[in-house]
Amino acid sequence: MYVGQDISPEALKETWSSTLRNKGRRVTKQRLAVLTAVQKHQHSPAEAIVEAVREELPSITVQSVYVILADLVDIDLLRRFEPPGTPALYETRIGDNHHHAFCIRCGKVEDVDCAVGSAPCLVPNNFHGMALLSADVLYQGICADCQTSEEHELATRQQAAAAAEHPHVFKVAS
Ligand SMILES: [Zn+2]
Ligand SMILES: [Zn+2]
Ligand SMILES: [Zn+2]
Repeated sequence: MYVGQDISPEALKETWSSTLRNKGRRVTKQRLAVLTAVQKHQHSPAEAIVEAVREELPSITVQSVYVILADLVDIDLLRRFEPPGTPALYETRIGDNHHHAFCIRCGKVEDVDCAVGSAPCLVPNNFHGMALLSADVLYQGICADCQTSEEHELATRQQAAAAAEHPHVFKVAS
């Protein structure tokens, strides 16, 4: 199931509620508030989700949010993933084996559809007799914004270096 952005909040809550019941969980306002917060803040760490949940339920404890997050991951209502050097991030887009592109400069995360469509989308030459379930795919790179600012910095530095080396360039020829 892929919970997209184009579904109304009411329909989303209906979908979440029926999944919770199917998994033997009670539908509580705490669980729905956590799901709503993650839906609004995709690819966010637990800390940011606590903050968002508290806008709706000011008295909820940090511990409760963490426990609910872990449980929602267990019952496949949320997906948790951990890019290198960052805390775990949560999202409501589940069950479609999509991957992530991660900017090593600013930590921005983007969804990338799986080119193959289902796990495991990478099949090694030798998998030692294992029944393969999944392959972790993380694209790492430098996002467009960071590329632009790096190019800008480089250009500024090159101009400064050129001006220092060749001061005559800026003199008016006689
Ligand atoms: Zn970036
Ligand atoms: Zn994602
Ligand atoms: Zn894939």
